[in-house]
Amino acid sequence: MRISCVLRTMSATTPATVLRPTLERVEELRTSLAEISARVQQAAPANATTGRQPTLVAVSKYKPASDILACYEDGQRDFGENYVQELVDKAAQLPADIRWHFIGTFQTNKSKILASIPNLYAVQTVGSAKGADALNKQLTSRTTPLNVLLQVNTSGEDVKSGLAPLTSPVPADAELVHLARHIVSSCPHLHLQGLMTIGSLTESLDSKEKPNEDFEKLKQTRDLLEEALAPEKGQWGEGGRLLLSMGMSSDFEAALRTGSDIVRVGTGIFGGRPKKEEVKSATS
Ligand SMILES: *Cc1c(COP(=O)(O)O)cnc(C)c1O
Repeated sequence: MRISCVLRTMSATTPATVLRPTLERVEELRTSLAEISARVQQAAPANATTGRQPTLVAVSKYKPASDILACYEDGQRDFGENYVQELVDKAAQLPADIRWHFIGTFQTNKSKILASIPNLYAVQTVGSAKGADALNKQLTSRTTPLNVLLQVNTSGEDVKSGLAPLTSPVPADAELVHLARHIVSSCPHLHLQGLMTIGSLTESLDSKEKPNEDFEKLKQTRDLLEEALAPEKGQWGEGGRLLLSMGMSSDFEAALRTGSDIVRVGTGIFGGRPKKEEVKSATS
């Protein structure tokens, strides 16, 4: 059986049942998941932010539903996806107690379809009041508020989305503070859970020797934002803290050492994936 055929059946109009992963693939995924989990555990004691275990989000973009099922059957519950339609298709076929994290570019016009996923756990890439309002408006039938994280562009690279990080003293008109307040005060169907960043690859490569500056920046931004939101304490975060989502395959240990609460690991668990352009040309 070729696993690549699963992706094709998923975009068909008839609902497809998830193909079983091959035994070989199950074995492979179990091994990598165990290795990554062990590395997370090992780096985690340095994380004093919340006193709890960090969350490992398995980033499954471009990977077949059968891969996700294999990880699920091994106990993994948090999965991250970047593309709305791919997420919708997978969520429809896979167990309802999966916690889906949307980590792709968030477009306001995709709010409705995103909000239609009952087990959507978090949108990690909110970056504007317009986007927050659109999402909030679509979520009226949910019984619990949807977790949102604000994306921060810590590296300042043009290609990365997100709001500017905060530096002390925080200007009265800082966009990030505005957006956070807006969500807390005017979006009852959203729960401001924390901040997310991607960080630059250069920092990631250098951080084996020295602290990753992008991760330090996100942490500082979080601390400053918590101060600014002190009057609304209790209405945001978890256990009184805003969570930090930072760290991917190449740098999650550095991120955990800096206090990350949520790491997003794709390649390290599922192996390499095709480039975006290659997937596009193969499916169009
Ligand atoms: C793809 C992706 C990841 C996972 O990246 P890997 O390097 O494969 O671990 C994490 N976060 C975001 C936002 C991504 O788009």
